[in-house]
Amino acid sequence: MRLFRPLLLSLTVLASHVFAQESAEVPKQNDVARLRKIVINSLYSHRDVFLRELISNANDALEKLRLTSLTDKEVLSGAEDLNITIKAFKDQDGHGRIIIRDTGIGMTPEELTANLGTLAKSGTSEFLARAESTDTTGTGNLIGAFGLGFYSSFLVADHVYVSSLAAKSSQNPSPTQYVFSSGADESSFEIYPDPHGNTLGRGTEIILVLKDDALEYTDQHKVSDLIDKHSSFSSAFPIYLYTER
Ligand code: ADP
Ligand code: MG
Repeated sequence: MRLFRPLLLSLTVLASHVFAQESAEVPKQNDVARLRKIVINSLYSHRDVFLRELISNANDALEKLRLTSLTDKEVLSGAEDLNITIKAFKDQDGHGRIIIRDTGIGMTPEELTANLGTLAKSGTSEFLARAESTDTTGTGNLIGAFGLGFYSSFLVADHVYVSSLAAKSSQNPSPTQYVFSSGADESSFEIYPDPHGNTLGRGTEIILVLKDDALEYTDQHKVSDLIDKHSSFSSAFPIYLYTER
């Protein structure tokens, strides 16, 4: 179910996320800082898993949209596409980016904070507890057993931007698109209204600014192989990989 399309990207969109305003600092998150250390220091050889984790989250978000639409007519009005799109590329300065977008349920700013800003809702909290009480040879098995979740992004990324527009619902008839922004070296994150407005239509776009030693993930063959190996059978929705012609 993979389509190959020409790469067509506006880098100004990326740049403006970097310079976005109206940000609000959130206090230090000790759990988050601890988890990141473990993730970054001891799971280097397993870092391919980030893609599987992000695709699995996208798949969950699409599934949740489909389920919610059964009981709320405001959700999923019309025959909109339910899919996942992935773009991997180097920008003009040689910096790597990988972008994972879904047309799923999306997140409100409160949900961005609760779901991504803390470990409370995430499988990562259980992972963290186990990972700290085991040696690093065991962590590979833990990834398989529990999943590492959103924080595996920091295995390959210096900075992560998550733009999200929650699906329209009877409780939230006119949602606003927000950005969650977090760097690997920071133990805090920022959330602000997307300066571009509601560009997504609905759903979530995750932009990973790749570390200099993770440029292999801009190789479309590598990304395509990873999707085939780990995600193509487990995803109920089509995954489109944009490739350069
Ligand atoms: P888990 O998937 O085990 O709950 P994650 O760390 O992978 O843990 O994700 C944490 C939470 O963030 C998810 O439970 C979900 O509520 C939210 N989330 C992550 N990615 C997305 C997405 N693409 N769309 C909507 N919600 C998301
Ligand atoms: Mg997950």
